[in-house]
Amino acid sequence: MPRAENIKSADSGESLDAAGFRRDLRKWYKANARELPWRESQDPYRIWLSEIMLQQTRVATVIDRYKEFLQRFPTLVALALAREEDVLAAWSGLGYYHRARSLHRAAQFVMRECNAQLPETAAELRSLPGIGEYTAPAIASICFNEPVALVDGNVERVLLRVLSLGENKRSPAMKRLHEQATMLLDVRNPGTHNQAMMELGATICLPRNPKCSECPVQKYCKTQGEHETTARKTMRSQESVYLLATRKKGTVTEVLMMKRGAEESQMAGMWELPSLPPELFRNSEVLLGLRHSITNTNYYVRVLASKPALMEIAKNEHGDALVWKRQKMLNTLPLTGLARKVLQRMDLLHRPPVHLPGNDRQQIE
Ligand code: SF4
Repeated sequence: MPRAENIKSADSGESLDAAGFRRDLRKWYKANARELPWRESQDPYRIWLSEIMLQQTRVATVIDRYKEFLQRFPTLVALALAREEDVLAAWSGLGYYHRARSLHRAAQFVMRECNAQLPETAAELRSLPGIGEYTAPAIASICFNEPVALVDGNVERVLLRVLSLGENKRSPAMKRLHEQATMLLDVRNPGTHNQAMMELGATICLPRNPKCSECPVQKYCKTQGEHETTARKTMRSQESVYLLATRKKGTVTEVLMMKRGAEESQMAGMWELPSLPPELFRNSEVLLGLRHSITNTNYYVRVLASKPALMEIAKNEHGDALVWKRQKMLNTLPLTGLARKVLQRMDLLHRPPVHLPGNDRQQIE
């Protein structure tokens, strides 16, 4: 493992006191780490689940979903034995459903091939579905104390600023950044070090307006503020229209839903509201309007109230895919994030409060 007590900044050539950096970072983390449910456990299954959920989803959103997921699937074996539809239902609202499918497949593999024990090294973990170059060292260092550095978006930003490097996403530059992260790693406490680096990026060294005056490693930092970045991709816009139709059967309320086809490239098999052709409804009266962002696309969504003519169009568009679902059962379906958002805003979807013993503290990012 390459290791140095003084690390040179690429641009300035000045060296950084790596031992002092590690010490001050660790001290700060021990005193200031947020209390998050997955930090109360060393169970590799729980750490793995949290790391997968935290990819591309905010901490505040993950907290409740993490607890709910563990209520339904408290162990790796319980997850491996579950039906995929139930796993997707427990994941709905977190988005990026390929993560849930990979998690499920990986749990089945580990149960079948590894006696239900997660592999303990980053190299072995990387062979599992959905575990990549960031998640593997996170699990290996936090759960099994393997001295491997990780570079996620937060750590990358901290390193670029501390070492005064400009942003460069080309692979030689990223490889070099990994080497710098490895040299800076606290090999005696790799899990704590990696978590501290991520925490620093998430709470202090923010993308905009970093809190340098509160930063525990300010004296080592060559940039002391925002670093040079390359231009971001501009967001695309897309309009979409959905129909919200409900009916009463006795005392039971039903909502018209549709299941996305298995051949869809995104969110296959998930449930959503029936879509309508946007060009037909540019000037229609809207029940609800909202914006929904997925990667680099902003969807401008209009939801229309049911009318006979709209029901006809929906039937022509979707035919047998339309199904009336009992409102009380909506929570058990794997809903798309957008469907969940609309149903919640229209008061048609309720989530019961979740309490796990000893895990009811919540911190909002
Ligand atoms: S001093 Fe500022 S820019 Fe440097 S690591 Fe700390 S918060 Fe980030």
